[in-house]
Amino acid sequence: MFFPSHIASGFILGNLLKKSPWTVYPFMPILLFASLLPDVDGLFSDTVAGHHTILHTPIFWIILFGVMILIHKWLKMAILQPVSLGIFLGVQLHLITDWITARTVGIQWLYPFNETDYFLFQIQPENGQGSVWEMIQNPYFSFYMENAVLFWAEVGVILVAGAIYSKQRFNK
Ligand SMILES: [Zn+2]
Repeated sequence: MFFPSHIASGFILGNLLKKSPWTVYPFMPILLFASLLPDVDGLFSDTVAGHHTILHTPIFWIILFGVMILIHKWLKMAILQPVSLGIFLGVQLHLITDWITARTVGIQWLYPFNETDYFLFQIQPENGQGSVWEMIQNPYFSFYMENAVLFWAEVGVILVAGAIYSKQRFNK
């Protein structure tokens, strides 16, 4: 999934959870930040297909979330509650949407216990040998558009997020 659709899906999730007592400020900005966070590994990778590191594995983040909850219980810092939940939900949403929209690399759901790469539609790693900076250029972009259902679903996510955002601005 691309950057704008990751942040848009985070924004939609944040709005769905808006009424929860757990999602007080700064939950939303943290959630948006975390919905992009796993892709930091793209900065250190030569290829699109090779960019998934431990940041794209759920168990790493589950452990980090557990550690933050322990610190929260220990130090009783109220802010840690929305921050830890925002990070946890943002990154897991990123992994789920990367799994659904996988084109050249999937998600290792069970890493480090098992290194199987999971994906919903058959991936084609041979098409992901360019750098992440070439993702919005052809040939990668037209390859990405080949799965029209996934491509337009991604556009749809951005449009829904844009509609929610505009409605909120309009209602102010
Ligand atoms: Zn990713």
